Parts: sequence; C-alpha cells; structure tokens
Amino acid sequence: MSLTVDVLLPIAVKTPFTYSLPAELVEVTVGDIVCVPFRKQEQWGIVWQIGNNAPYTRELKSIIKKASLPPLSEKFLTFLRRVAEYNYFPLGLSLKLTLSQAFLEEKKTRKLVDLSPPQLDFHTPAFSIEQQTAIDQLVVSIDQHTFQPIVLDGITGSGKTEVYLEAIHHTLSLGKQILVLLPEIALTNQLLARFEKRFGVPPLLWHSNVSPTIKRQTWQAIVKGDVKVIIGARSALFLPFSELGLIIVDEEHDGSYKQEDQITYHGRDMAVLRANIDQATILLVSATPSLETIQNMKGGRYKKLTLATRHGGAILPSIHPIDMRQQPKGWLSPPLLNAIQKTLERKQQVMLFLNRRGYAPLTLCRQCGLRLTCPSCAVALVEHKHHQRLCCHHCGYSQQHPQQCPDCATEDSFIPCGPGVERVHEQICKRFPNARVLILTSDTLHSTPLLEEAIEKIHTHQVDIIIGTQILAKGHHFPLITLVGVIDADLGLSGGDLRCGERTYQLLHQVSGRAGREKDKGHVLLQTYAPDHPVMQSLCQQNRDEFNKLELIDRELHHMPPFSRLVSISLAGRDQTVVAQIARDLGFKSPKVEGVQILGPTPAPLAYLRGKYRWRFLLKVDKSYPIQRLLDHWLAQIKLPNSVSLDVDIDPQSFY
Ligand code: ADP
Ligand code: ZN
Repeated sequence: MSLTVDVLLPIAVKTPFTYSLPAELVEVTVGDIVCVPFRKQEQWGIVWQIGNNAPYTRELKSIIKKASLPPLSEKFLTFLRRVAEYNYFPLGLSLKLTLSQAFLEEKKTRKLVDLSPPQLDFHTPAFSIEQQTAIDQLVVSIDQHTFQPIVLDGITGSGKTEVYLEAIHHTLSLGKQILVLLPEIALTNQLLARFEKRFGVPPLLWHSNVSPTIKRQTWQAIVKGDVKVIIGARSALFLPFSELGLIIVDEEHDGSYKQEDQITYHGRDMAVLRANIDQATILLVSATPSLETIQNMKGGRYKKLTLATRHGGAILPSIHPIDMRQQPKGWLSPPLLNAIQKTLERKQQVMLFLNRRGYAPLTLCRQCGLRLTCPSCAVALVEHKHHQRLCCHHCGYSQQHPQQCPDCATEDSFIPCGPGVERVHEQICKRFPNARVLILTSDTLHSTPLLEEAIEKIHTHQVDIIIGTQILAKGHHFPLITLVGVIDADLGLSGGDLRCGERTYQLLHQVSGRAGREKDKGHVLLQTYAPDHPVMQSLCQQNRDEFNKLELIDRELHHMPPFSRLVSISLAGRDQTVVAQIARDLGFKSPKVEGVQILGPTPAPLAYLRGKYRWRFLLKVDKSYPIQRLLDHWLAQIKLPNSVSLDVDIDPQSFY
C-alpha cells in the first residue's frame, strides 16, 4: 500500500481530493504546490493533508509533479480555511483567491520584476512631535511580534501616510514582509510614487490591472520570500507571504473592501484575521473610522493612535449648509454660484461634487408619464450624453433615445428629470463661459493614464472648475482647490440601509477634505433639504465623535452591527413562481433558535435584476452565535433546482 495525499484544487469544492504518491516523489509536505490529473486535464493544487488512511475501493490517480517552489506556510493554509469557514463558501474557492493556474506556468520572460530591496537610509523626513509619538508606539508593537490591531485615526492631511511609511521602514529593518491594502487601484500609483521617494525603489503592486506576466513573477517571488513590500487592492490579501510583520489597511472604512460578487468577503476584516494567524501588527488607517472599528477601540480590543493637526499647519475647511428649501428652484443655488464666482476671481480652483453619473437619472414621457426602464432590471435608465445613450447602471444594458413614446406614440416627448454630473457640467459651462471646466467620472476616465492626465491638469492649474463623482473624493491633494460644493448632500441618505448615515458622513467628510490643503483656508458648501439632519449638523460642526456616538446608540437600540451580525441569503432565478416557492419552502423550514432572528422571505429591494427575480432573507445574529453551523443545517433541508441560485453573504454591506 502506498501513501495517499489529499490535494485541494482551486475550484468550488468543499474538500480536497485524494491522490497516490508516485515512488519518485517521496518528499512531499503539507503546503506543497503539486500538479494532478483532474477531469482529463492537469491542474495545480495544494497538498492539504498527507497519509489519510481511509480505505479506497477504486484505483487512485497519481500526483504528476511538484512545483520547484517552497510549500505554502501552514499559517497561510489555516488562513484560507478560516476565510472559507467564516464567509461560508467552499474551501476550494478560498484557494482560488490565491492560486491561479497561470501563476505556475513555466515560461521564460525577458522582462523581470524589479526585486531590488528598499533602501532604508534613502530619505527620512523630519516628523512632527505628534507623528513621532504615533511612530514610537507603532515600533513597540511591531517589535513584539504579536497580534495587535492599531487604529491610526487622523484628520485628512495630518500625515498618516508618512507615519505608516515609517512603520514600513521599521518592519523592513527587522527583515519582515509588509502588505499595504488600498481601497482603489487609482490610489496605488500615488502611493508608489511616495514609496519610491522614501525608499529609492518602487514597491510591487498587486491589483486587477497588473499584467499576467508580472503577476506570475510577483506571486512566485512572494512564495520564495523574495518580496518585502506589496501595495495592492483587497485581492493582495491572498498572496502567500511567509513572514508578514505588518499589514496596513488604508481608508479602512471604505466600502470597496467588501468583495460582493461570487466569493464574498470583507477585505479589512479578513486582514485582521490574517494578522491574528500570522501574529502580525495590523494598522487600520482612516480619518473617519467605521463604527465597527470605533466600537472595537471603545472595547479596548484595538489600540488608538491620533493625529489631530494638519501637517504644516494648514487649517481645516469651514463647512456650511445651504438650505435648499429657502432657495429658488434649480440645482445650483445663488450662494453656491456666488462662491464659485469669488473663488475664480481669486484665481483658485473649485470642485463640485455629485455622486451621480450621467446626465439625468430619470427620463419621462411628458405626455403619458411613462418612465424608461431597463428591460432586464426593475430600475430607471440613466441618460448619458457622453455616450449618447440611455444606460442601466446595474446590468450594462443601453439603448438609444426613443423618437416616440412606446406607450402613447407622442413624438419627441421624453424629458430628462433630475441632475447627473453631465447636466451640472452643462449648466456650469453656460454660467461661467470663461472658466476652464473639467468633468471627471468613471465614464470619462476609464483608464489610469486618463486619470493621471486629469490629475496633472488640476495640479498645473489648467482647469478652474472640476466637476466629479466620488472618483475624486479619495486621497488626492490639490493645493489650489479652496472651494468644494456638494450639489446634493442628501443623495446617500435615502438608501434605507443601515449604513447610509455613516457612509454619507464619511463620503462628504472625505470630499470636504479636498478643500484648502495648503496655506489658503478652504470652504465647503453643502446643498441640502435637510440641514437639521444629524449628518449635516455634525459635518458642519466638524463633530465626528458626536455623530458616531449618536449612531452607535441607535445601532445598539436596534441590535444592529456592530452590536450584532447580519447575514443575507438571496435567491434568484428566471422563473418568478419557482423562486418564490423555494423562498417560501425555505421560510417554512427556518429554525427558531435563541440569538438568531430570521426576517423574510421577502422580495429583494431590487426584485428584478439582470433578468432574474430575487427573494431574500435577512438574519440578525448575536455576535457569539456560530451561524455557519445553523446555515449548514437549515440549507441542507432544501433541494435547490438548477434554475435557482442561492447566495449567502456574511456581514453584507449592500442590501439591494
Ligand atoms: P494623510 O495621509 O493623513 O492625508 P499625508 O501623509 O498625505 O496625510 O500628508 C499630507 C501632506 O503633508 C503630504 O503632502 C505629505 O507629504 C506632507 N507631510 C506629512 N508629514 C510630513 C513630514 N513629517 N515632513 C514633510 N512633509 C510631510
Ligand atoms: Zn439592467
């Protein structure tokens, strides 16, 4: 009898497959990367376990070969297992997050990634006392080699990035690896430039736009331990580091850390898990930490470091509401227009913010009131002048503007309702014909070079007024912008989900932070119909802590996160009655246990999406309750037809 080996493959399976070991391959260990026959193909996988002695009736297939790379560390395998367990997806998909077949292709390439080590004595800035205090505490934690979450809570422009670059410096001096996570690809290039200025060499980047060749080389170099620092998007969390000393999650509150499609997980939370398993320091950085993080600080689980002043003494902008109930009709109020005029006269820049792409969010027939909707989703089509089409923001469907109404046949009867950025752009150009105006949205800036070109234009004062969506809100530092106008500050408040107040606060705070980052004081004007809303009040009074306090009281009262855990289960299928029936069947079987409240089934808020009907359950669970086991038991009682899909989202962030 020969030794058997369990190999996990990066596909949707819950358990590894068993293979036999050929005589020439005696030296395999757990974590080894091996190639095995699978469904008439060769596949790379990971040795998960050795010598499982279960009896086998059929002949086992044999491992083909072993990669000439070191094994993945046991800690990393533990991480993959825990991620799959917590987020309730098959173990193999966890491996899929780290291992792509392409990473193991044996190709020779001429261009190699630059693995020259960062230079520790290249350039060190002089730190403020406040920065130095934070750095000292970070150094103590990093030296301890134990799991320690730390929050770097500092206002925009306070020098948080400089502080964490110094923490990277210290970790490098100990010979350990560092992972920096950013919420958006666009920010990686900026940080790359700052990193290079600090350490003389660029760090390696990891995100969806990195070429396959670079990815393959980077991945292999990480397994070999040849890479010290990676800056990346959330997917970088699944790189097989063997000696992580420090993980940094910048803009930790950002919603884009949540991966929503197919394999759902929260990048920040899984980063904390990884740091725990690796006994590493984890630094969560933000000017507006999430309520989850704030609650963790209050409970003493996370340590807090504060930066309270802007570097170089720049002062925070003043923030004022414009009560739109008191203004004449229109999207641009006289006080905002006056402020724009004055700013232009001072030869400074204006940024206008509206988080709505396109020209108009709604198109109506003025004769019969018909609204144009997407044929595959229950949502309105958004007019885009840039593309000259009406587009669905959910499924990508688009169509031309109809000549006549399909219902009442009136010619040319469709009118746009409400503003999108393109419409604000049109009005601003009319109103300020001599100003140089730039519009920035993901429709106009679909590639990194275009975005960089736009940023360069702003820096060199080739534009006066910048109009944009949230693409502009994050991380950028534009010294000449002294006025920020928010066209519709209430926009995010109507979502009805648990975090809409928190998100609106964070977003508007971040947008406001773009104003007056250097010697000239900035001003922010918020156009709102609800100036008394706690979000607007605390923004204008710059009282973030008060807002968080009220919001936490409210969450606790309703037993909502961070005081409980939510789980969403959604069902989708093309046949309306089948989906509804499955939802009801599942509802009848729903377990009644203490600590778990099951809401539903109900049609999802977006009850029809991409041609599928959707139903949903929402579970509100006590934090200590092992919900995954309950799901196993409950969901096993229903046989799902192939035409219906069921998705479980632990800690959901969006509720549509
Ligand atoms: P944050 O990350 O908190 O928004 P940054 O680290 O980007 O702040 O700092 C804001 C600006 O101040 C940047 O231009 C940065 O280069 C500069 N800065 C911060 N700290 C220092 C320092 N100690 N010495 C020189 N410049 C600094
Ligand atoms: Zn659609």
